[in-house]
Amino acid sequence: QVSDTLAKEGPSSPSYDWFQTDSLVTIVIYTKQKDINLDSVIVDHQDDSFRAETIIKDYSYIIHMGLSHEIQEDFSVRVVENVGKIEIVLKKKENTSWKRLGHPLENHNLLIPKKDTGTEIVKPYTPVSDFLLSEFKEPVLLNNKYIYFLIKIYPAGLFTPELDHLHIGDFVSVSNPEGNFKISQFRELEDLFLLAAGTGFTPMVKILNYALTNIPGLRKVKLMFFNKTEDDIIWRSQLEKLAFKDKRFDVEFVLSAPTSEWNGKRGYISPALLSQFLKRSLDNSRVLICICGPTPFTEQGIRLLHDLNFSKDEIHSFTA
Ligand code: FAD
Ligand code: NAD
Repeated sequence: QVSDTLAKEGPSSPSYDWFQTDSLVTIVIYTKQKDINLDSVIVDHQDDSFRAETIIKDYSYIIHMGLSHEIQEDFSVRVVENVGKIEIVLKKKENTSWKRLGHPLENHNLLIPKKDTGTEIVKPYTPVSDFLLSEFKEPVLLNNKYIYFLIKIYPAGLFTPELDHLHIGDFVSVSNPEGNFKISQFRELEDLFLLAAGTGFTPMVKILNYALTNIPGLRKVKLMFFNKTEDDIIWRSQLEKLAFKDKRFDVEFVLSAPTSEWNGKRGYISPALLSQFLKRSLDNSRVLICICGPTPFTEQGIRLLHDLNFSKDEIHSFTA
């Protein structure tokens, strides 16, 4: 009842419907909003519980059901933007006819203010240093007890807009660090190649710092940094200055959505880009390749590295 009242104050309430074929179940959400896009929908499916959260301004419209039959893991989401319609297509495990979609779970078919959706949000972030080059170092404040993060805000994301709205004095809980990168992977390293996409650059920050100061036999460090546009390149001027100052270090930027003025490399990670980039300084030099970025980028990168005959030990991927 409370939610009904709130719904009346917010955007007009969406509705949903569903239909099926032998093998598919399609859930259609009519948002009654025109500015809906794929970023507005968060779909989650575990066992028989299905949840789709559609973000509409400061509200969330929730579809939350215990499905009546089993579905396969993969599903697809389509948005018809001009009419604000969202179609979520689920694949049935068995080709039987469903009499009903399922039974409603918490908040099902309600439009509720985003902050009341009530779930704890846990997201991983990678601590970075506050600078790459000492000349960019911020003055050290008070007791030096700081953790630095580089965090991209996704306007339609669940957590980062909340983080963006915090004020000094607010707090977030931080867990113990987790991870599986071992310093021993640097032992006797000669060539270090870093493949980063977007915020996948963050694990490379400390790696770069460490490698350039602590690996005695290191000959070459190369970063290939994939972004959509020039504006997305994190710490570009620091990277270019570092390349200028330290002859062992090189950086190449690759853009997937550049303007027509961009003279540099373009496209997604590809065999052509990698084979030209991954040149060892000696025929048999000891190599480590670190890769991090959106999951499809990292998966594709690992496949390509295997195709180029790099071994498992020569590749470290940062994944969830
Ligand atoms: P989300 O709600 O996750 O959404 C992100 C985007 O994807 C939005 O546009 C959203 O609408 C869309 N989306 C998400 N899920 C779905 C879905 N199921 N269906 C449709 N659309 C969807 N990020 C950093 O900025 N810096 C870091 O240092 C960093 N380190 C990381 C380290 C690790 C090990 C991992 C795994 C990730 C790291 N990330 C980092 C990413 C970070 O954890 C979050 O994923 C990111 O901040 C987005 O969170 P969010 O809740 O704001 O957005
Ligand atoms: P983005 O959407 O701006 O994309 C950056 C680049 O990634 C693109 O220019 C493109 O070259 C490449 N890319 C994107 N989609 C691709 C696809 N389908 N196939 C091949 N290449 C593709 O990136 P973003 O928004 O900054 O996201 C960065 C990602 O890195 C997030 O998914 C984040 O979770 C992940 N990340 C992981 C860690 C980790 O330690 N595992 C750390 C930081 C960030």
